[in-house]
Amino acid sequence: MRGFTSTAIHGGLNQADQYGALRFPVYDGAAFGAESALALEQAFAGRSPAHTYSRITNPTVADLERRLRELAGGLAVIGLASGMAAITSVILALCEAGSNLITSRHLFGNTLSLFAKTLQPWGLETRYVSMLEPASLARAIDSQTRAIFLETITNPQLEVADIKALAEVAAAHGVPLLLDNTVATPYLFQSREYGVAVELLSATKYISGGATCLGGLLIDNGTYDWSRAPKLAREAEKYGPLALVASLRREVYRNTGACLAPHNAYLLSLGLETLALRVERSCANALALAEYLARHPRVRGVNYPGLATDAGHRLAAAQFNHRFGGILTFDLDGKEECFRFLDRLRMIQRATNINDNKSLALHPASTIFAEYGEIERRAMGIRPTMVRLAVGIEDLEDLLADLDQALAAAPQPTGP
Ligand code: PLP
Repeated sequence: MRGFTSTAIHGGLNQADQYGALRFPVYDGAAFGAESALALEQAFAGRSPAHTYSRITNPTVADLERRLRELAGGLAVIGLASGMAAITSVILALCEAGSNLITSRHLFGNTLSLFAKTLQPWGLETRYVSMLEPASLARAIDSQTRAIFLETITNPQLEVADIKALAEVAAAHGVPLLLDNTVATPYLFQSREYGVAVELLSATKYISGGATCLGGLLIDNGTYDWSRAPKLAREAEKYGPLALVASLRREVYRNTGACLAPHNAYLLSLGLETLALRVERSCANALALAEYLARHPRVRGVNYPGLATDAGHRLAAAQFNHRFGGILTFDLDGKEECFRFLDRLRMIQRATNINDNKSLALHPASTIFAEYGEIERRAMGIRPTMVRLAVGIEDLEDLLADLDQALAAAPQPTGP
């Protein structure tokens, strides 16, 4: 079997191009013609692989989906407009009014907002547990639980849960485990081997690399029997293991218009080819910066699973093959010090993205989590003193120099 990068580069549709092009073309259109009414009927019925309309399938998007399927080893992959579109779609496919979803408060802010604000008025209850305690997850599950959702390394709390243990609890109760694997990607973490039912990715991050566009990916790992998911019972009878994908393609994905644009699929395919190189580099940079910050007298604490002192270190080392991701957080004396530090940065950008080629920093409490009050933020692990640094692939010496000068500019602490 080929390695990760060889597969990323040489995988995908192996169609002979009439010009010998080595890149899959961008089919940047909405509609596809059929040779007969019967052919169109067959395509609509899903009895032929022909494309009809790019909101449902598109050849360039299918090329990216195929490559991802080879890399992640799943049953099927669907490309979507963004990471949020991928998360929304799977929840809409599995949950209904009166059912519940179990997750943790340690999540990306917009995902929390989707569950607690957007979907709650439609009758979906969200239950919060600590994913560090599989027993508390087990206690929260009941007959109305439709899914369990977590992040591989939570953004920005950087919490690492024992995913195998959680998958065992989920399997014992017949509930699908959904995992947002954005910050680890299938390069660092193969969720299928850990019993995860569906993996979600914001391809906007590590996969695009240069933050060239938005994109999302949904990977059905083929590990869950969809006949056990009440909302998919009919599809499971008809489509068997492809029930989730059928429900998405023939209903949720099609009806919500959450499709990935063909040009964006092309950009993401380019990014995918260098994913492993960039993940290695950003993880190495992040570890070195975390070690530097941990020694800095102005820094009150550093949160990074790569540090031996971090609570999740041993688990992360085992789960992610001794790489710990490209995000770290650290605390300064207060919000004012955080702002002063951010304003002094020269190369590192003040911006809200992660796993970009560029290093980016922000103050989560006043940005991504600004819609929440102080008490809610505390429950989400968001401190007013915290800076998030999403480490890129620049030269380490330049990153260290930028941090050094920005921290040096903070005022000397006043005496007691
Ligand atoms: N999941 C995580 C962990 C994220 O950090 C983000 C965005 O920052 C998303 C999902 C949403 O992705 P997108 O911006 O592509 O919708």
